[in-house]
Amino acid sequence: MFDIEKIRRQFPILTQKVNGKPLVYLDNGATTQKPRQVIDIVNKMYSEYNSNIHRGVHYLSAKSTELYENARETVRKFINAETPEEIIFTKGTTDAINLAAFSFGEKYIKENDEIIVGLTEHHSNIVPWQMLCKRKKAKLKVIPADENGELKFEEFKKLLGKKTKLVAFAHVANSTGIINPVEKIIEETRKTEAKILIDGAQAIQHKKIDVKTLDCDFYAFSGHKIYAETGIGVLYGKKELLETMPPYQGGGDMIKSVSFEKTEYADLPLKFEAGTSNYVAAVSLAEALNFVNSTGIENIEKHESELLAYAEEKLSSINGLKIFGKSRNKTSAVSFNIKNTHFYDIGMILDKLGTAVRTGTHCAEPTMKHFGITGTVRASFAVYNTFDEIDKLYEGIIKAQKMLS
Ligand code: PMP
Repeated sequence: MFDIEKIRRQFPILTQKVNGKPLVYLDNGATTQKPRQVIDIVNKMYSEYNSNIHRGVHYLSAKSTELYENARETVRKFINAETPEEIIFTKGTTDAINLAAFSFGEKYIKENDEIIVGLTEHHSNIVPWQMLCKRKKAKLKVIPADENGELKFEEFKKLLGKKTKLVAFAHVANSTGIINPVEKIIEETRKTEAKILIDGAQAIQHKKIDVKTLDCDFYAFSGHKIYAETGIGVLYGKKELLETMPPYQGGGDMIKSVSFEKTEYADLPLKFEAGTSNYVAAVSLAEALNFVNSTGIENIEKHESELLAYAEEKLSSINGLKIFGKSRNKTSAVSFNIKNTHFYDIGMILDKLGTAVRTGTHCAEPTMKHFGITGTVRASFAVYNTFDEIDKLYEGIIKAQKMLS
């Protein structure tokens, strides 16, 4: 049974008032709030188990290490990877994509090779590839989008060719909530030699992810967007591929032996985890995934899609409100502007009413340029949001519109 009140009670932050009004938190695309069990596990880590992992022979170090490696196994199961060696802990999605871009790029990209990205990517799935292309004199190709922000699949097929070494795209576009045609893009790419990286930052918290069924080479996501702490993320990579890639950073933990003559790198996954990992946040990620598992990702998806349908219908009835990214295939976000108003003003008035939304470019400047705008207001949903909160958003927008006109 999906009991929204029971779920909300698990998130202490939601009970507070902001500007004298009950908080309505609709900025979940930026980061999610944390359930009590995640807050408690972080507390427990520092109160009872804290010590650096993989290094000590003593009790606390062994305990921290065990919890960290258990967290890796929890992530493996959650996304159905084949082995824990395929789960690389990173700082977040950005760090995961940079790792892949550097390391895959070092090994596999040379002059005149081509990398394809979607037009509607977050900057963190554009800039690392641009940097790589600059370093290697390779070319970045962009899948165009239609007026709604949906990637043009037929155009993608034309871009794909012998020179394509990698296709990188978001599972869900963060600025619009549009779910990209992941299966179709993968199926088409598999007809070539090119590898596939999926930026799952806006998908992992909303949909069941099975990397084996998807058959992608890399899948990246951030813990903080799926109810865990900040400072932790995951790069999933196919073992055979990761094994051929050089390390991203050098330092402690990523080596078997070091001498001035020769350094031998550690096996997977530690080869890619130089330095002290954020083991506390990794454990918090496992606890967050436990929360998602016990709530049921299918229940979450159903609840959020009902919220989205309700929000789109309600907001569409507002005079002068335009939704960017209209699509039947969407999840958990509504991006909009209101005629003759600025998105910052709408966001600020909503804040005065206790409602938190995101305003601006959403780190997706090419998408904004594509729509011919400088930003939007984005309301994005999580498991704990309610229909009543969408009513409050609606009433807030009406009020803001009146004040600004
Ligand atoms: N990709 C997408 C689609 C995102 O939404 C985000 C976060 N807004 C990122 C990448 C970057 O995530 P992080 O800042 O956690 O590294």
